[in-house]
Amino acid sequence: MGTMSRRSFSAEDILEMMSTNCGARYYKKDYDNPKYQNPDMCAKCGGKCCKRCGCFFSPDDFSVLNFEALVNEIEKGYITIELIDLDQFYMEGFAWVMRMRNKNGPIVERRMIRPNSECIMLTERGCAFGYEHRPTGGRLLIPCEHGECESDYSTEKAIREWLNYQRLLRQLVEHFESALNTAG
Ligand code: SF4
Ligand code: SF4
Repeated sequence: MGTMSRRSFSAEDILEMMSTNCGARYYKKDYDNPKYQNPDMCAKCGGKCCKRCGCFFSPDDFSVLNFEALVNEIEKGYITIELIDLDQFYMEGFAWVMRMRNKNGPIVERRMIRPNSECIMLTERGCAFGYEHRPTGGRLLIPCEHGECESDYSTEKAIREWLNYQRLLRQLVEHFESALNTAG
C-alpha cells in the first residue's frame, strides 16, 4: 500500500499563503482588552467614526454562516454587502464584505466608494448596540482624543476574512438584487 506524502508548511509558506490569499480567518481578536472601551471619550466625540460609515462585520460575528441564516439577518435591515476593489490592498480583483448599513443605504453597495454617511445604528446616545453586540470593526476601535481612531480590525483584515465566503456573498447579492428587480 502506498504512503501518502503530506506537505508540511513552514512559517514562510503560511505568511506567503496569507499574503497571496485565498482567504484568512481567525485573526486574533482581543475583545476584552480595555484599550477598546472608553465610553467617556466616545460620548465627548459623539461618534465621528460611526458618522463616516457603518463598521465591518467579521465572519466571527455570525453564529451560523449559510445562505438561509444570512438572508434572515440581512432582512432585519441593518446589513450591507459591499463590493471592494482589491487593487488598493495590493491584490487583484474585487471582493464582497459585510458591514453595518448606513442610514438610507442599500442592501447591496456596488459603487466602490466610501459612502461617508452615518451608520443606521447611531443614536443620540451613541451606538444602539451594547459593546459585546457590535460588529467586530466597531468593537476593535481604539478611542483616541481627537477622533482619528484606528480599528484593529482594518478593512484589509475584513476583506481577508470574507475572502473565504465570496461564493456565499455572491449568492446573497444575486438573491437581493433579483428581489429588488422583481419588486421594481
Ligand atoms: S472610537 Fe474614536 S471616533 Fe469613534 S466615537 Fe470613540 S472617540 Fe469617536
Ligand atoms: S454598529 Fe455601532 S459602533 Fe458600528 S458603526 Fe454603527 S453605531 Fe458605530
